[in-house]
Amino acid sequence: MKTITVLIPAYNEAPVLPKLFDRLETLGKTIKKYNLEFLFVNDGSRDDTLAIIKQYAQKDERVSYINLTRNFGKEIAMIAGIDHVDSDALVIIDADLQDPPELIPDMIKLWEEGYDDVFARRSSRLGESWFKKFTSQSFYKVLQRSTTIPIQRDTGDFRLLDRRCIDALKRIRESERYTKGFFSWIGFNKKEINYIRDPRAAGETKWNYFKLFNLAIDGIVSFTTAPLRISTILGIAISFFAFFYILIVIARTLFYGVDLAGYPSMMAVILFLGGVQLLSLGIIGEYIGRIFNETKQRPLYLIEEYHATSPVIPEFQDKTTR
Ligand code: UDP
Ligand code: MG
Repeated sequence: MKTITVLIPAYNEAPVLPKLFDRLETLGKTIKKYNLEFLFVNDGSRDDTLAIIKQYAQKDERVSYINLTRNFGKEIAMIAGIDHVDSDALVIIDADLQDPPELIPDMIKLWEEGYDDVFARRSSRLGESWFKKFTSQSFYKVLQRSTTIPIQRDTGDFRLLDRRCIDALKRIRESERYTKGFFSWIGFNKKEINYIRDPRAAGETKWNYFKLFNLAIDGIVSFTTAPLRISTILGIAISFFAFFYILIVIARTLFYGVDLAGYPSMMAVILFLGGVQLLSLGIIGEYIGRIFNETKQRPLYLIEEYHATSPVIPEFQDKTTR
């Protein structure tokens, strides 16, 4: 019998976990053709999340968990989980029930038809402001324009991945992770499935606009070097323009003599160029920072405790983590 692992990254999700277990258990009853496993990654929660997970792990041997040594963020929590999966398929799902587990049987059906990556696309986003919808839409647009890899819009991490995708993801060891981008990058046979994204069942979102803005920058910078190209093109265009402008200035001085007028235009040019230079430096800095972080070669995460009925020894994990 084939095994499907449900991976659940959880950070301060104590209020919602009981509801999640109920839904997962009901789901387990509807799926009879496969062994189901639930792998929780406790991402340094400060509430009772770990204690609750442990309780369930004692009662139900399908439940295993990884306790990270601190909060590493969802992206890292996911790779920690993926590293410890060697089943035939993997479903990544949020703990807060925004991704309905009831969709999983439909995903499995498509997987049986031969798709490797069945991702859920939200056709509506309940409980999200127009501003969040607008910013997220613009972000996808910018990202897609800057790369040739097809980006799946309005998708989260909620998806079913075949073994082949799991193995591919395990090999991506970047420390600045933008996992949604990796799903696109690995390719394979993709299939979308639409659903309506529910509002959070309980607890609070861990994202604020600052974090989302950072994730957007991470997404673009980890995915494409197009911004570097843009600053080059901007530099060329401005230099070109400046060259002709200098010719005009020289000609004017030769024919009409020196005049002191033109202070405003000079300030405008100086300020504009200063701005462009700072922006370009910032863009270059983003990439250099990334090089710096990657060259440190730190382990992606550290594990405090790993509990599983049949533990998986990670293939690509760094030696420092056990
Ligand atoms: N999460 C995590 N580590 C973090 C933040 C979030 O593992 O540092 C988990 C969280 O427990 C949830 C999922 O990532 O299962 C999505 O988080 P959240 O619901 O806060 O994000 P949103 O749905 O608002 O995008
Ligand atoms: Mg959520």
